[in-house]
This record gives sequence, C-alpha cells and structure tokens, in this order.
Amino acid sequence: MGKVGVTAAVVVGAAVCAAVGLLVRNQLRSSGQCARADAILKEFKDKCGAQNSKLKQVADAMTVEMHAGLASEGGSKLKMLISYVDNLPSGAEEGVYYALDLGGTNFRVLRVQLGGTERGIINREFREVSIPPNLMVGTSQELFDYIAAELAKFVAQEEDRFHLPFGRKRELGFTFSFPVMQTSINTGTLARWTKGFSIDDAVGKDVVGALSSAMERQGVDMHVSALVNDTVGTLAGGKYANKDVAVAVIMGTGTNAAYVERSQAIPKWHGPQSESGEMVINMEWGNFRSSHLPLTEYDIGLDAESLNPGEQMFEKLTSGMYLGEIVRRVLCRIAEESTLFGDTVPPKLKTPFILRTPDMSAMHHDTSYDLKVVGSKLKDILEISNTSLKARKLVVELCSIVATRGARLAAAGILGILKKMGRDISRDGEPQRTIIAMDGGLYEHYTVYRVCLETTLRELLDAEVSKNVVCEHFNDGSGTGAALLAASHSSYAS
Ligand code: ADP
Ligand code: MG
Repeated sequence: MGKVGVTAAVVVGAAVCAAVGLLVRNQLRSSGQCARADAILKEFKDKCGAQNSKLKQVADAMTVEMHAGLASEGGSKLKMLISYVDNLPSGAEEGVYYALDLGGTNFRVLRVQLGGTERGIINREFREVSIPPNLMVGTSQELFDYIAAELAKFVAQEEDRFHLPFGRKRELGFTFSFPVMQTSINTGTLARWTKGFSIDDAVGKDVVGALSSAMERQGVDMHVSALVNDTVGTLAGGKYANKDVAVAVIMGTGTNAAYVERSQAIPKWHGPQSESGEMVINMEWGNFRSSHLPLTEYDIGLDAESLNPGEQMFEKLTSGMYLGEIVRRVLCRIAEESTLFGDTVPPKLKTPFILRTPDMSAMHHDTSYDLKVVGSKLKDILEISNTSLKARKLVVELCSIVATRGARLAAAGILGILKKMGRDISRDGEPQRTIIAMDGGLYEHYTVYRVCLETTLRELLDAEVSKNVVCEHFNDGSGTGAALLAASHSSYAS
C-alpha cells in the first residue's frame, strides 16, 4: 500500500470509528434516558402499590371513620350525612314526577311516569345538557337560572297524557350531588363545592330555595319534594328495581357512596326513630383520608394545585376528574428527565387537566399491535408525534398503574361499608344477598377499571360471602331515583 493509500485508510478508519462512537454514544444516551423513564415509572408503581393487606387496612380505616362520622357532627372527615330518606320507594308509587340531576359536567332533566306495583315505570324521558364551564365558577343565580330555563323547555314539551289533575302542582326530585347539610327531605344548605365547581355565594345557602327562586323567575311552576344526592337517588332507584340493593356507589367525575343504616346506630341523630328503623346515609366518602392511602408526590402536587386543597383525597385517587391528570403529571416528569418524548418537554404536556380520563381509558384499552390509539391520542391531545412503540407501551403501563390503584381503593372502600353493615362475613342460616348499585361514567365506560374493582372486591371477601355480594350497574338510577323519592315524599301523599 502506498503512502496515500495508508493515509486514506487511516482517515476512513477514523471516520468509521467516530461514526460508530457517535452511534454507540447516542444509543447509550437514549437507553440511559429510557432507563430514567423506566425508573420513574417503577418508582411510581411501587408507591401506588395497593396489595390486599394494605386494602384491608384502608377498609378498616373506612369503617372506623364511618363510626366516628355517625357519632357526632364533624367527628370525622366522613360527613356521614343524614339524608332524611328513611323509607326507600315501595313500588306502589303512581303518577308523573320530574327530576333534575346536577352533580358534574352534565345535568339531566327527567320525566317519569309510575304505574304502581303492577306496572312499575311506564315511561321515562330525559334530556341531558352540559354545563358551560363559566357557570361552574360564576354566581349561583346564573347557574340555577340556566338549569331552570332548561327545565322550563323540557316541561313545555310535556305531552297531554302526562298532564296532572287540575289544581295539582308538578313535583320534582332534585339530585344535587355536592355535600349538603339537610334539615328535612326537601331542605338543606350547601357545605362546599367539589368536582371543579366553585361558586362562593352558594356556600351555606339553602339549595332548594335557590332552585325554587330560579324556577319562579323562569316560569316553572313546580314543587321540590325531595332533595337528594346521586348516591341516595341511585340507592332509591336500585332498591325499587331489586330489594337486595343496600349500598350505592358512584364512580363518575367524582365519587361517593350511600347505604342503609339502622337509625339506632346513628348517635348524632336526635330525630324520631322511623317506622322502618332505617335511615339512608350519604357518606361523602370522597373526602375519606387515611395514612394507609398510597399517596405519591404526584397526588400531593395535584391536591396542592386543586380548587380544594386538602379535601376529597379519596376522590382525587379514584375518580374520573383526576385519573387522567395524574397520568399527565407523571408523563410530564418523564418528559422533563428523559428524551422519551423528544429533547424538550412538549408544551401541551404542561397544561393541567389536558389529558381527560376518557382519553386515558381509550389508550388503556388499545389492543392494536402498534398501539395506534395511544399514538394518535398522544399526537392529537399532547402534540407529541412519532412516538416510539416503547414510549406508547410506557403510557399504557402508566394508565394501568393509575387505574388499578383507583379501582382497588374503591373496592377497599366498599369492603369498609360492608364491614360496617356486618355483611362482610357469612352468618348462620340463609345467606344474605347484597347488591351494590353502581353508576357513573367512569364505572360505566372504563371497562378495565370496572373489572378490576369487582375482582378486587371478590378477592377481599371470603369465598362464601363473595358469592352473595354483587355490583350491578343501574344506569341513571340517580335521576329516576330522585323522581321516585319525589313520589314517595309527595306533598299530596295520603
Ligand atoms: P357526573 O359524574 O359528571 O355526574 P357521569 O356519571 O356521566 O357524570 O360521569 C362522567 C365522568 O365519567 C367523566 O367526567 C369522566 O371522568 C368519566 N368518563 C366518561 N366517559 C368515560 C370513558 N369512556 N372512560 C373513562 N371515564 C369516562
Ligand atoms: Mg352523575
């Protein structure tokens, strides 16, 4: 080889070495970065751990708090509100009743025609309207006027066959799913807002009064016969359909539960003992908190920046308003500390609440081999394009961690209620059947979440008992239930 040839070989060799070096360095860098992403995910997963032993501690803590909340006003983070529903619908109710269901992003107006024991629900019509976000943080008059105006439109469409006898006012059951201190079946004051609502002038005020004045302004001539929340409504609707229903749980934008308590087991209740000896308790379990809850730095950050810091911790771990946001927060950290989503943090990823739970659920349910749905959601919502399969897989795993923790904690909460009711153990004689009436968009649409919740509950119960404890979906039980309660508490009742 001549001198030139040697030089050329050396130059080419050096170039190849440099190229290989760069490639290796890049690979090392990217695998190092991926390792960082994996490490963040693993750490998060470990902290979210909710093994059965932990869930049993959560359930026990729930039972303890239930006792404390029933013992005295303010005795617990669980308000254990007395609903004044001491008689669930019997099935004999008859006539046309209205309901209004407000408690999240949408509200529904309903008209239900009841045909007594023989015919049950003859007819049910409803209209669903979304609440403009500005009204969720405006004044109470604006919000209630908007609702009453929609109700007015709905009443105007009432067919002749529904018209009430002359001189009789239409009656309405109002499902208002926020913490309310009731003073009777149809009066109560708002304790505070949850689920993204923040209307200062309504807090501490008479809820039915606010609705009634708005109805008057909008020309709706109607009497509010029952004020309930969605859990109490669902319990009433569920029990009407099946007498074994004893608990209701809502997993939607927020979460809450209600159950039938013995009125003698409510020390803070000083009213008359009901004939049934029962009282429905609205737990407001979204505000449950315990040192056993597996909290992470992401949950603490979410809480601190929320509209209600320090409150509704159980809700912030389990419900539809927050699950997607927890995922976003973890992704944001991964984007900051690795190059899994590019060299810079995608700007959209920094926007709070941009990743909604329905989108998270769509990604989690993606079964395509290349995770197409995950890819397109990341692109459309977060403007992260060309994601690697590895990145998509990580996103699915993250959704799974967040959903699993939420669903398992919800199951633990239900176990806590069953314990309080003495329905977690088998007794001699006839097995007692317990149906948990479930509703809410999260439970209804997030299949993996629902299956995990139900499987976990079975795991936590003894095999014998678990055969007789069933979660059943009651679609829009809360609205129908409110109409039923308006009927069973009708001011015209004989
Ligand atoms: P609300 O709780 O507002 O009264 P819903 O019971 O209909 O109303 O629940 C709506 C909530 O359910 C949404 O805010 C969302 O968090 C959740 N949700 C709706 N659709 C889905 C879905 N496909 N996957 C997961 N969660 C969903
Ligand atoms: Mg609802």
